[in-house]
Amino acid sequence: MSRAPLIGVDLGGTKIECAVLAAGGEVAWRSRVATPQGNYEATIATVAELVRQARSRAPGAPGVGVGHPGSRSPFTGLHRNANSTCLNGRPLLADLERAIGLPVRGANDANCFALSEAVDGAGAGCRTVFGVILGTGCGGGVVVNRMALEGANGIAGEWGHMPLPRADAFERAVPGCWCGRGPCLEVFLSGPGVQADYARRGGEAGVALDEVARRAAAGDPAALAAIERWIDRLGRALAVVCDVLDPDAIVLGGGASNTPCLAERLPAAIAPHCFSDGFRTPVRRAVHGDSSGVRGAAWLFATFAA
Ligand SMILES: [Zn+2]
Repeated sequence: MSRAPLIGVDLGGTKIECAVLAAGGEVAWRSRVATPQGNYEATIATVAELVRQARSRAPGAPGVGVGHPGSRSPFTGLHRNANSTCLNGRPLLADLERAIGLPVRGANDANCFALSEAVDGAGAGCRTVFGVILGTGCGGGVVVNRMALEGANGIAGEWGHMPLPRADAFERAVPGCWCGRGPCLEVFLSGPGVQADYARRGGEAGVALDEVARRAAAGDPAALAAIERWIDRLGRALAVVCDVLDPDAIVLGGGASNTPCLAERLPAAIAPHCFSDGFRTPVRRAVHGDSSGVRGAAWLFATFAA
């Protein structure tokens, strides 16, 4: 692992967190502030101020890793696909670099999550890790040999906006995704997706996923069926990832991943859809929880022994 302290920033829609990782990977300092809502210039200034505080605790840091929603378009150099829409259409990473005065490396927040878990989390020791974030949205990141893959188009691991594999007539008729591509995985697999699915199929409207899971555990048939459909859909969707990438581990993060027994049940849900005579890929819950974003961002500047 790198011996110099590293600085990471997790630029989220509601909060911005900055941390210094000491040589061993432990968080030596951190600070968290609210994200200035809808204000691009204030967002840049807030990140720069946090990094200014971090630098005094991280002498010799080679640069600043920044985890952000969306990605930098390799075609225009401008930011895109961020749910914090004030970032879109702006040269986010260039502006951050100018404001901070150190080299900046950016990566999508799901890539940072996957990197954090691959370096010293639930995917430690695995060559290829697929990180899945199941929360208000549905994201993914691919890490190979402790390097987050960006991809030719900057979309590696963008798993949430693919069609649901082997969709039945009911699933094909579900209202489309905000991205305009029809009913994407996010429509079915995110927390709000399960909430909507429960309401569509005989459950009460407006019941969040954790309550649906509680009702399922208490024997509510509509809730039980919604959770079973969710696990089956996750199985189909992750089988595609396994057929393409065949990762050594799948790591789950995000609020919805805390649903009891989810990780334990997924291998049996993936297996029948994989083009293989067996399935031994472990599916694990993330180790670093909330901290994975900022940790993974810091690791963007790490150099690892081969
Ligand atoms: Zn979509």
